[in-house]
Amino acid sequence: MKDERIDELGENHIATSAFTPLRKDAFVLSNEEKIEKIQNNIRQIMETLGLDLTDDSLKGTPKRVAKAYVNEIFGGLNPDKMPSTSTFDNNYKYNEMLVEKNIVVYSTCEHHFLPIIGRAHIGYISNGKVIGLSKMNRIVEYFSKRPQVQERLTMQIVQAMQQALGTEDVACVIDAKHLCVNSRGIKDIESSTVTSEFGGKFKDNDVRREFLNYIKMETAFSR
Ligand SMILES: [Zn+2]
Repeated sequence: MKDERIDELGENHIATSAFTPLRKDAFVLSNEEKIEKIQNNIRQIMETLGLDLTDDSLKGTPKRVAKAYVNEIFGGLNPDKMPSTSTFDNNYKYNEMLVEKNIVVYSTCEHHFLPIIGRAHIGYISNGKVIGLSKMNRIVEYFSKRPQVQERLTMQIVQAMQQALGTEDVACVIDAKHLCVNSRGIKDIESSTVTSEFGGKFKDNDVRREFLNYIKMETAFSR
């Protein structure tokens, strides 16, 4: 791919697929081996920048970054970390929409490796199964811990919920700040990006409006 095309894709945050592009050999190395390799690479980057890694403050940085990449920030690349999405029967026959909103999103822009920070709002209409509320947070967290494009993150959350619940009737809206836009490039600290994915009944205007109204609700929880 030509350099200009790479820049264009990156600056416009265009994803090439709904699937995270992973190599076939993504899990040949163990986490320990990956940490070892990445810390050497980070050390090289830092040295190339001219930093003195004998300084006490910088000495541990390559290892810290490598551990954070493998275990935390990009831990969601590993399918073994996919949270269990066990569901329960909807015994109380609640047939209305359930919305969990303001779920914290900490992800990483795959074009610049800078943070994406925001909130996800998920809604679903049960067709017989219900999912634990904290499971929804865990699904968001799992897919956030990858190099991401916000559109793909939104779609992956909806698809995981649809699979777990056995229904198309799932929606997700994410409102997030991209530090690659806020702190560099165009340096717009105010802007945020909204993405949405509406499945099944949520494609209906009334259902969609109901969902959007709920996520706009501001309840004063403290007096
Ligand atoms: Zn970016």
